[in-house]
Amino acid sequence: MSDFIYVDHAATTKVRPEVLEAMMPYLTEYYGNVSSMYSISDITEQAVKDARASIAAAIGAKEQEIIFTSCGSESNNMALRGIMKKAGGGHIITTNVEHHAILHTVEALVKEGCTATYLPVDERGLITPDQLEAAITPETKIISIMMANNEIGTIEPIQELAAVAKAHGIYFHTDAVQAVGHLPINVKEMGIDMLSASGHKFGAPKGIGFLYVRNGIYLPALITGGGQERGKRAGTENTAFIVGMAKALELAVSEMDKTNARLLKMRERLIDGILESIPYCRLNGDRERRVAGNVNVSIEFIEGEALLLMLDMNGICASSGSACTTGSLDPSHVLLAIGLTHEVAHGSLRISLGEDNTQADVDYILKTLPPIVKRLRDMSPVWEDAIKAGIAEDY
Ligand code: PLP
Repeated sequence: MSDFIYVDHAATTKVRPEVLEAMMPYLTEYYGNVSSMYSISDITEQAVKDARASIAAAIGAKEQEIIFTSCGSESNNMALRGIMKKAGGGHIITTNVEHHAILHTVEALVKEGCTATYLPVDERGLITPDQLEAAITPETKIISIMMANNEIGTIEPIQELAAVAKAHGIYFHTDAVQAVGHLPINVKEMGIDMLSASGHKFGAPKGIGFLYVRNGIYLPALITGGGQERGKRAGTENTAFIVGMAKALELAVSEMDKTNARLLKMRERLIDGILESIPYCRLNGDRERRVAGNVNVSIEFIEGEALLLMLDMNGICASSGSACTTGSLDPSHVLLAIGLTHEVAHGSLRISLGEDNTQADVDYILKTLPPIVKRLRDMSPVWEDAIKAGIAEDY
């Protein structure tokens, strides 16, 4: 066991050794620009071609439907801004639990004159097809609903939602950053028009992602310049990272069933263990419809930030919400959206398990977390008041 336990895989993952090994030749020996004429560039060109084919196959797409980007945020921007630019404005439908890469992009588009509807989720974090149907207007140009939530792990009924979009002839985009490499995906069977992914969530380096765009959909380039990515996204191809992302996805998909079965066992032990040993604690999100490695709990009468610091001092790297919002004292918009009060949302903890975690890590967390919570409560005036008011009972 290393000297810390990393359980923040929804924030980012380690580059797998096999991935690094696949990348190395393209950082050292075959560094030629894909577009150049000499023969080492033939090798890099072929590597990018193979990577594109492999990524396409992993999600049931065609090679020419994959556009390489720098990250999930860029992919989301490209889909939303591209469609709205092409349409010359109009109405966007999304949800109130999306990642900020979607929410802030939609906000920016609204400032530019578009309109938007944010579908509210239920207490499990779910959207229904009927809800979506009711929100569609003649002006709706794109529907963007995430596949799996980054905070509470809830998996949306994407196939059913995409079918509603299709029935109305509206483009359906999904932010699948937390799903690619973790859930089985077939874009054709699921009826998805556009899908965003990010390599660093499944064992590739940070700084590489892709957008699947169904054949026949024209998206204007956001980044203009050279003719890379068939004119859809300028910038010299990041060969090594593209190769690494393809390798990481290939491994993730081939090991998915085994990995998920293992993560699920650990997750269930963690959830049961936490709920049994910590009073005034609740699980956030749907117990079944959630990604295998996600645990998100709200622990009342404590501050999430203090809890994270104490966990860190005890060698546990976890998160209190999405990593991107760390530093902000606002409670998570996702937890508020599923009906939590500000106070309860503040005491939330996300543990996202991955590849390298073991049952010994679970044992350690279950041994370490409850006494930390007790210590924080014992120091908390809120806890003292709750006991005095008879809202909580000391233990
Ligand atoms: N969408 C979701 C659901 C995410 O979880 C994240 C990152 O946490 C992003 C988008 C942004 O991805 P990236 O960090 O690759 O820009």
